[in-house]
Amino acid sequence: MPFAHAVFGFGHPYIESILLTSFTDLGLAEPILRAVTAEGYTNPTPIQAGVIPDMMAGRDIVGIAQTGTGKTAAFVLPILHKLHKLERPAPKTCAALILAPTRELAMQIADNVRSYSQFLGLSVTVVVGGVKPRAQIRALARGVDILVATPGRLEDHINTGALYIDKTNTVVLDEADQMMDLGFMPAIRRIMKQLPKARQTMLLSATMPKQIRALANDFLSNPSEISVAPQSRPIESIAQKVYFVGKQAKRQLLEELVLSPQIERTIIFTRTKHGANKVVINLEKRGLQAAAIHGNKSQNQRQKTLNAFRSGDLNILVATDIAARGIDIDDISHIINYELPNIPESYVHRIGRTARAGKSGVAISLMDGTERGFLRDIEKLTGITLERMESEYGKTYDASQEGKPANPRNFGNTFKKKPRRQGGRPGGQQGKPKAAQGRHGQKPKRRSNYKAA
Ligand code: AMP
Repeated sequence: MPFAHAVFGFGHPYIESILLTSFTDLGLAEPILRAVTAEGYTNPTPIQAGVIPDMMAGRDIVGIAQTGTGKTAAFVLPILHKLHKLERPAPKTCAALILAPTRELAMQIADNVRSYSQFLGLSVTVVVGGVKPRAQIRALARGVDILVATPGRLEDHINTGALYIDKTNTVVLDEADQMMDLGFMPAIRRIMKQLPKARQTMLLSATMPKQIRALANDFLSNPSEISVAPQSRPIESIAQKVYFVGKQAKRQLLEELVLSPQIERTIIFTRTKHGANKVVINLEKRGLQAAAIHGNKSQNQRQKTLNAFRSGDLNILVATDIAARGIDIDDISHIINYELPNIPESYVHRIGRTARAGKSGVAISLMDGTERGFLRDIEKLTGITLERMESEYGKTYDASQEGKPANPRNFGNTFKKKPRRQGGRPGGQQGKPKAAQGRHGQKPKRRSNYKAA
């Protein structure tokens, strides 16, 4: 199927004309413009300038864009424009459906929808797993203007007759490639088949692997394709560093890093849920407040933890890749990859949690001998060579080892033990353990309020 194709990016000839566009030029209804102004937005971002006119003209859209580009407003604003004059939807139906891969992203999208529709009085409901279904069934029974859902729970409601989607004629698939990674592709195809043929569909994805392209071919009709920012390239304002460190010494190095005053707010990524819990327990043993979010946490726990992190009550979040995408929290100074991801694209998503809203950020990876291949894949994908760092816990990076199979005997037990610090930190309070001296001007808590499961 042919795609109308536009690519937007800095330095591109289209960019000047895009920068001249203002929200008023886009023809959005006045209450939507008022909400956009209330959010403090002055001009549309490139993805918004590309998507909004085509969506308002009724076209299907394929958008290749990562989070941070303003893609949520790009699809939400035209949906609001389309719905604001329509009658209320019938019971057990929704006028527009937005599908997202994770509960957190679904909730974040719904928050955005609420902000952008604050002067319109449209109904917004979130349908995600991990919580009891009763409140969702009640909300669906009344009929919903905009439903934001994860695929699994959405299918549950369709299967039990709590929701009918055969009249839903506006659909967005957000973060389609992550939905694929999480195994939602069969569910999405089943859901798409139940939607009416006459509908407007938008598919957004950070990358365009074959299966997503096939999904677009099968379910979109003559879409306009709009791409912003090069795919899979981390934002340039992130300093990217790697420590080559033994498995055993990772823990010590991590603690040393998070105690350094430069690290104000950080997400520590692990590959596994168990690994995330272990990191939290170890940090708590050092008197540091940390909490984990991953798939085994209840939705309430996940939300509570994210809220604490968002508000600044919690400065260390430990997460699996479930939090690597979509989550938009300002002022995350550092991303620490306690374990490198085995999928190189995940690295790009992880580090994209920092350096948001025009700020710079630092991404630090701790790599042991078993993870060399992962680093190679990351550097190949991004085209960036991570800065090799030295630490008394870590081994100086030895480039000659690159490509060689890992020898576990090279790691872990050959490091010099760090001498006990005499007399506390320069300027610190003598005698107290460092963690007990407080950081970021906060009184340290011995234990987290949000304990790992
Ligand atoms: P998103 O890519 O949808 O996750 O959006 C990333 C961030 O950009 C969010 O914090 C939005 O509030 C913000 N944003 C979206 N559109 C604009 C705009 N036109 N001007 C300034 N900020 C925006």
